[in-house]
Amino acid sequence: MPFFGHSAEKHYLCARMSEQTSLHELVAAQFREFLIAHQCRQTRERFAILEAIYDIEGTFTIEDLQHTMQDRRFRVSTGTLYQTTQLLVQANLLIRHPFSSSAAIFERIADDCPRSYQICNNCHRITRIRSKELATSLDTYHPRTFHVTHRIVYVYGTCASCHRQMRKQLKFHSQYTENQP
Ligand SMILES: [Zn+2]
Repeated sequence: MPFFGHSAEKHYLCARMSEQTSLHELVAAQFREFLIAHQCRQTRERFAILEAIYDIEGTFTIEDLQHTMQDRRFRVSTGTLYQTTQLLVQANLLIRHPFSSSAAIFERIADDCPRSYQICNNCHRITRIRSKELATSLDTYHPRTFHVTHRIVYVYGTCASCHRQMRKQLKFHSQYTENQP
């Protein structure tokens, strides 16, 4: 059974999202339902990790999550963090971004709001695109033959800082070749 698959559920969820406590309760209920359906254990650690994840704004790595848990004085092994994030990805409560970085990058998704990112091919820096037009286009995309669970767009290119660096290098190179006998 797909989680957050029903549009009425999504609207209900979005309407309730204004309060962080309600969001935590909703995602915990969703996760509980998933764990029962998949015959997985409902441990205190799993729910504490879920709560920590839903307090993180934007993207994070397992290392970031470990720091968040340490700040909360909640001892949890890296193995548990990996296992729980994997379960949350399966439960449609978390996405693992396909960014080409050495560490896996995650982000919570339960709000069903469209997301768009630009990624630098050179330094791999990731920034969120704040475009109303793009968000509206993604929001209104309802294909007839495909059931959409979440909407994410990735735009690849060169960031301003890398672009400046490249221009400098190019300038230096052309000056150097010009001065050659
Ligand atoms: Zn860059």
